[in-house]
Amino acid sequence: MTAIEFAMFRILRLFRKLPFNLLGVGNQKVIFTEFFKGFEKVGAVKGIFGEKTEEVLSHLTVEISWVMGYMYVDGSDGHLVISKGYLNNGDKIDIYLDLIHELCHVKQFREGKELFDPRYDYVDRPTEIEAYRYCIQEARRLGLSEERIRCYLWTEWMDEDDFKRLAKSVNVQFASAS
Ligand SMILES: [Zn+2]
Repeated sequence: MTAIEFAMFRILRLFRKLPFNLLGVGNQKVIFTEFFKGFEKVGAVKGIFGEKTEEVLSHLTVEISWVMGYMYVDGSDGHLVISKGYLNNGDKIDIYLDLIHELCHVKQFREGKELFDPRYDYVDRPTEIEAYRYCIQEARRLGLSEERIRCYLWTEWMDEDDFKRLAKSVNVQFASAS
């Protein structure tokens, strides 16, 4: 098994139990630990919440929504909103890394931090850089290649300059050495 296959295997285990119909109409709310099994045992997640990990995850509301896009932490009460389309069709490794990223935002919200601070561009915002550091650390632990990590990091709303700045802040090589 290659490193990436092993990573996929480990991640898919966390997604195995989907307790409701992803095609159902309307938004559905679930508790994080009912939907995503085993995240409380993931080192990166424990790194975020420490001894509060199980307590936070077992109280965290997840809204499965028809909203387009990926996922985000709602700035009004700190619950997690995930696009149903993304859950259904997104790359599982991307979803997994996004969850780690968003859980870091959940922690920041609980600490009273401003998640969408307009004084910063997205790629310069300290809350984003911290969240990316957690998920990239996890990506490396899983054995993902730098190329795959670059792919993950470079989202469609970043131009090349944005991406370079973010990559530098989170210690991802901008281009392959070859
Ligand atoms: Zn973020």
